[in-house]
Amino acid sequence: MELRNIRNFSIIAHVDHGKSTLADRLLEFTGAVSRRELKEQMLDTLEIERERGITIKMQAVKMFYKAKDGNTYQLHLIDTPGHVDFSYEVSRALAACEGAILLVDATQGIEAQTVANFWKAVEQDLVIIPVINKIDLPAADPDRVKRQIEDILGLPAEEALLVSAKEGIGIEELLEAIVERIPPPSGDPDAPLKALIFDSYYDQYRGAVAFVRVFDGEIRPGMKIRLFSTGKEFEVTEVGAQTPRMTKFEKLGAGEVGYVAASIKDVRDIRVGDTITDARRPVSEPVPGFRPAKPMVFAGIYPSEGYTYEELREALEKYAINDAAIQYEPETSPALGMGFRVGFLGLLHMEIVQERLEREYGVSIVTTAPNVVYRVRFKDGSVKEIKNPSELPENWGVIQAIEEPFVLVTIITPREYVGNIMSLCQERRGIQKKFLYLDQNTALLEYEMPLSEVILDFHDRIKSLSRGYASYDYEFIGYREEDLVKLTIFINNEPVDALSFIVHRDKAYRRARQLVEKLKEVIPRQLFEVKVQAGIGSRIIASERIPPLRANVLAKCYGGDVTRKKKLLEKQKEGKKRLKQFGKVELPQEAFLTVLKVD
Ligand code: GDP
Ligand code: MG
Repeated sequence: MELRNIRNFSIIAHVDHGKSTLADRLLEFTGAVSRRELKEQMLDTLEIERERGITIKMQAVKMFYKAKDGNTYQLHLIDTPGHVDFSYEVSRALAACEGAILLVDATQGIEAQTVANFWKAVEQDLVIIPVINKIDLPAADPDRVKRQIEDILGLPAEEALLVSAKEGIGIEELLEAIVERIPPPSGDPDAPLKALIFDSYYDQYRGAVAFVRVFDGEIRPGMKIRLFSTGKEFEVTEVGAQTPRMTKFEKLGAGEVGYVAASIKDVRDIRVGDTITDARRPVSEPVPGFRPAKPMVFAGIYPSEGYTYEELREALEKYAINDAAIQYEPETSPALGMGFRVGFLGLLHMEIVQERLEREYGVSIVTTAPNVVYRVRFKDGSVKEIKNPSELPENWGVIQAIEEPFVLVTIITPREYVGNIMSLCQERRGIQKKFLYLDQNTALLEYEMPLSEVILDFHDRIKSLSRGYASYDYEFIGYREEDLVKLTIFINNEPVDALSFIVHRDKAYRRARQLVEKLKEVIPRQLFEVKVQAGIGSRIIASERIPPLRANVLAKCYGGDVTRKKKLLEKQKEGKKRLKQFGKVELPQEAFLTVLKVD
């Protein structure tokens, strides 16, 4: 296909504004998929994506569109994940395009990720087509959204198209706009191969597969390719594109988007953002902007009762060939035994990994409360990155300072919740940087805040304080020194390393109190008394007792309230699934997550 008949674009939007639905409609309209074949949200293929209705792995689809000008165009649609954990993947996907459809829900208006993704597209110099979706809904207010697009993003309101992805309204007009407004790719088919990897996944038959955008040159089977960041070389076995089924082609030429397989065993060899070149005729400069995915959040993962460390290791190894973003290394915890310290991009990523390990890889696990990566500066001048609070030295005298990662949080909220959100941010040690009204009803706030305060149920709090209407996004801005202490939890006088965490000194007392109270609730009563305490170092600052179980607890229910007895037994069964024996005390999974839930 000639370059001038190719268009590469992404759809970017806030979560739930209808990206996947719109992608389905485009596939249907161009005939890539018939209505009968079209399962809803065709591009969200992972089972877990379907269930949660979110897009984790973006995909690139090729379709053909016969435009009103009589030409047939080859369109490559690159689907991107909307969640903040995967923002690096969004940036890389955009780097593979010349244009972006910025989709805004006509009932919600512009939200935090609309703005964040808009700026990513601007950074990549993309042509942006604003599209207002869900105009079929009675609550749709496209005029308000048009004003927002002009006032907040600075795009001319008359450029906005009105569509309903669900009802299929405005789809042809959108396809025409894609062809007219987005420029074709430029590129030199005769130059040495230069291709950007914007996604990867593991395929049972093909091995690790890279999704690429070819900038210059071409890729064919049999060719020897080299990965720029590692210098590793592989022989190409297959190239093709999703149409949306995986379809083989003879080659991928300059300007095209598709997949490359090369008998690569491990998905970590093909990193998102890296450049592929010809091993025999390599380019000297890669596609700019590559950085390896850096996990921001770490947690311990241990086998539950009935599963072994070996089983967990096998499951993790298998899982990791699918997910280049996770990091893991063995660790031993006095409380939980042998397990792993696992690094994630963020909390959502962590939940996904947890769920997939259990569901698809057949191990039941206990996960400890997540923490950010701290940076400790010692008096002797050395610096250490700490991924687990238990790595902190017993002797605090050797520590000069502890630094923690900070993020810039952008929040967009209806006016009436501004007060609630400001107090939440203050409580979370936020420093206000910006506060302005985007229109009569909508405010934008920016705060610098420790990442640790954001991973601590910030999402749930912001949603509940705004009845679900406020949205937020954040980006990493750097490390800062803070007055931090380590809070240790003791159960019957034994420190439980897996429950320890790092907290700001001003919050230590409150957190300690809340935590022991919460633990008292979730630790089942035992046949003996259990003492739960929290301390800074060995100095106890909060303490609770769990009285022993009386032998006749169940006996009491006999003849009495049957449902209550049933409930009790069900609860016991559920609790058993994830118990961890600690000394003589059994701790349920919930206990390890209480650290997260207090406020
Ligand atoms: P994504 O998170 O941006 O991929 O959004 P989805 O495509 O998953 O859509 C989120 C929800 O909005 C789903 O329940 C869709 O059925 C619904 N939706 C998407 N587009 C439209 C539309 O044009 N009209 C209506 N009424 N609902 C829509
Ligand atoms: Mg989606």
